[in-house]
Amino acid sequence: MDEFGLIRRYFAIPAVERKDVVLGIGDDAALLRVPLDHELAVSTDSLIAGVHFPDDFAADAVAHRALAANLSDLAAMGATPAWALLALTLPEADEEWLEDFSRGFFALARQERVALVGGNIARGPLNVTITVHGFVPRGMALTRRGAEPGDLIYVTGHPGDAAAGFELLQRGEAPPEHPCVRRFTHPLPRLAAGEVLRGIASAAIDISDGLLADLGHLLDLRNFGAKLALERLPLSAGLQQLYSRDEGWRLALTGGDDYELCFTVPASRAALAEARLGGVGCPVACVGAVEPIAGIQCVDGKGGVRTFPLPGYRHF
Ligand code: ADP
Ligand code: MG
Repeated sequence: MDEFGLIRRYFAIPAVERKDVVLGIGDDAALLRVPLDHELAVSTDSLIAGVHFPDDFAADAVAHRALAANLSDLAAMGATPAWALLALTLPEADEEWLEDFSRGFFALARQERVALVGGNIARGPLNVTITVHGFVPRGMALTRRGAEPGDLIYVTGHPGDAAAGFELLQRGEAPPEHPCVRRFTHPLPRLAAGEVLRGIASAAIDISDGLLADLGHLLDLRNFGAKLALERLPLSAGLQQLYSRDEGWRLALTGGDDYELCFTVPASRAALAEARLGGVGCPVACVGAVEPIAGIQCVDGKGGVRTFPLPGYRHF
């Protein structure tokens, strides 16, 4: 099958109908309509075989993770997703792989109502680059910039699970249905959470490199620090079965690939934030507060300050 056949068969399928797509796959460019009084949020991310996932990673999980990582950036902006572009390089046109990839991609695309409106396909080392577009009412986007001392720090979900799942996979001990493994292979972008936090959170970021590293990005922008209460870290039951409490804290603070949200809220809006997130079924935990100090202090139940080495992932 040539590239046009592949595009028709695996990508140009009417999975999500959207009125704002004037012209989708098949022309030189897509034509798209941004709703009045909204801003367009745009983000792109690549997943590279051998760097972000093992070469033999299931194709549906490659597609899911690639789209989920991109949508997570929209969630962190409080944007509602709409469209995606997919640039794929493949060593060969393996139709079984493409079938699984397409299934994984469109399962998440349908769930989040994202229309695939174009892309590219070429021969080369396996690389999946996705660009996503979403809308946010004008002036309402969440950014990394607004945290103030006194603001409470929250995380969604159960940070650390994806890193635990990755460790299980690497040791070859992982039943694919283990909740931690599932969280690594099929992360859930927190889109509904991002939307309800518009106008409430003072700053937000998604956790791709570990909670300490990504929270650090928020705080560094303002030259503030934070105190985190280790006992408030929402370790999942699955993680606690596998790891000691200290190892669980280490994974929750420094493990990557969670795609949960970390955000700050002024204390006066904390109850509202918690009620809104409860309303969309998103687990959330308050783990600390922004402080006018340097760095992030992690305090255990006895008041001792603990440090955790090597936060986050560095590409270079
Ligand atoms: P061009 O040569 O003009 O760039 P292509 O032959 O690369 O066009 O692509 C033809 C059409 O198919 C374009 O509309 C493009 O956006 C779309 N397309 C190509 N690859 C993909 C893909 N992997 N997923 C979705 N759409 C794709
Ligand atoms: Mg092209």
